[in-house]
Amino acid sequence: MTDITIEENTVASVHYTGTLPDSGEVFDSSEGRDPLTFLVGHKQMIPGFEEEMMGAKVGERREFTLTSDRAYGGRDDDAVLQIPRDNFAQLEGETPLEVGMQLVAQMPHGPSPFTVTELTDDTVTADFNHALAGQSLTFSVEVVELRAASEEELAHGHAHGPGGHHH
Ligand code: ZN
Repeated sequence: MTDITIEENTVASVHYTGTLPDSGEVFDSSEGRDPLTFLVGHKQMIPGFEEEMMGAKVGERREFTLTSDRAYGGRDDDAVLQIPRDNFAQLEGETPLEVGMQLVAQMPHGPSPFTVTELTDDTVTADFNHALAGQSLTFSVEVVELRAASEEELAHGHAHGPGGHHH
């Protein structure tokens, strides 16, 4: 097993910490949790993350910074929408709207998360950009486990639990 390195169609388990290079703020980390397990080469991860980890062995640590084009992409001004506040009347009956709130809209192509960035009496400004769009991201990664993907995992395009069994 130890001769396996990260390449297409391996299942990799990693511990990672993601920080914003400008502020040092941690935006995500597997610390205190199970390692993150993913099937390499099937778009489970942002593209730059896999590229930077290619060829790594179990126990290897890597640290790298991705510009936004290799992470969550640039910010799209067209993804910021003004929605009539009346549309939120039912929700506001239960939960008052606040700036910074994260909600999910039911769109024709499926659920789309957005952040409320501005509120007036009439309008809600909804930002559908990923919260990390337009940001450079630094990752510190340690490879915990590697194995070949099972037939089932390859067919599904995602990693399953230990040994390739379905969760
Ligand atoms: Zn599956």
